[in-house]
Amino acid sequence: SSGAEPATKVVINLERLQQLPAEKVGPLARYAATIQSQRGDYNGKVLSIRTEDLRSLAIIYDMTPGELTEQLIDWGVLPPEARPAREE
Ligand code: C2E
Ligand code: C2E
Ligand code: C2E
Repeated sequence: SSGAEPATKVVINLERLQQLPAEKVGPLARYAATIQSQRGDYNGKVLSIRTEDLRSLAIIYDMTPGELTEQLIDWGVLPPEARPAREE
């Protein structure tokens, strides 16, 4: 696959995110904190975010949305099920 496709459903594991070093996850952690604040949603173990937001984050990380999805799965921030189906 080209790695261009973003995750199908973006549900961030907030507990895992907090365990990772800030130099890796800084932009994502700040983005998630901002969304929590905008929603007043502070009590969840996970946070569902927009696919559009993943595209914006990919630009910040200088990756394609698909590459960022793989990175987040590697870090344990997204579950493997978030990996988009490959086109054969
Ligand atoms: P789901 O989408 O599979 O979410 C499962 C559970 O993950 C939710 O249970 C909630 O505890 C947690 N969760 C997911 N995203 C977030 C988030 O952004 N913030 C927080 N704090 N928790 C989150 P819950 O709340 O009992 O919801 C059960 C199911 O009800 C959800 O399953 C979903 O199918 C539906 N649902 C709940 N809220 C919404 C919504 O805003 N939009 C839609 N379309 N469905 C919703
Ligand atoms: P908004 O974008 O004008 O959305 C207003 C309200 O519409 C939201 O209030 C929410 O109740 C609902 N809404 C909009 N899009 C969706 C969606 O895809 N799924 C669900 N379940 N509801 C949706 P809320 O949650 O109080 O958010 C207030 C404002 O905070 C939003 O205004 C938006 O400006 C910002 N915001 C919140 N969460 C996000 C996010 O995940 N990404 C972005 N880019 N902005 C967000
Ligand atoms: P969801 O609530 O199950 O919404 C699934 C998809 O339906 C969204 O994917 C979006 O494409 C569409 N959708 C739902 N509500 C609205 C709306 O009010 N306006 C528009 N234009 N589209 C809507 P998306 O954007 O990838 O969001 C994924 C999940 O992120 C949502 O699942 C919801 O759990 C969460 N989310 C996104 N934006 C907001 C928000 O502003 N507030 C809250 N509380 N949750 C949000």
